[in-house]
Amino acid sequence: MRAKVEPGKKQSFELDTKLDDSILEDRNCKFLSPVHIEGEFYYQNEKLYLNAKAHVKLLCMCDNCGEEFERVFEFPLEEEFIENYNSHNEEDYLINQAGISIDEPLSDNLLLSLSTRMLCREDCKGLCQVCGKNKNFTECHCEEHLKEIERQEENPFGKIMK
Ligand SMILES: [Zn+2]
Ligand SMILES: [Zn+2]
Repeated sequence: MRAKVEPGKKQSFELDTKLDDSILEDRNCKFLSPVHIEGEFYYQNEKLYLNAKAHVKLLCMCDNCGEEFERVFEFPLEEEFIENYNSHNEEDYLINQAGISIDEPLSDNLLLSLSTRMLCREDCKGLCQVCGKNKNFTECHCEEHLKEIERQEENPFGKIMK
């Protein structure tokens, strides 16, 4: 991102940037769109403050049932960048001669916003432990049958009483 910067003056911006699929590999997701960012920034005391919102469309695999699903994820991007000639920590985002690179804070914030368990829907029923069918689509009675059998086994008279 390059812009003429006037200290203290808020400037709005909007941009699309493509991130590499590799950052989502561990999460079983892929990018279906560039990340769209909209917000404002200002520069003061050798720091650039970024205050923006981002959204992106991902293709993910449900951690519960394994089904693929598409979803738009929204997340905030509120970061500070400091001039690289200042003393800084390794985690700091820097302003270099070329400006700032937004990709790193962007992917950091995206990953933070994703929940640890990705579900195709909030009430995903998962797979049947017995027949392996996706219970979101098909109803089976395997687990009820299993419980019935367990109940009968616990009850010494279960089999006789049947
Ligand atoms: Zn699911
Ligand atoms: Zn089943």
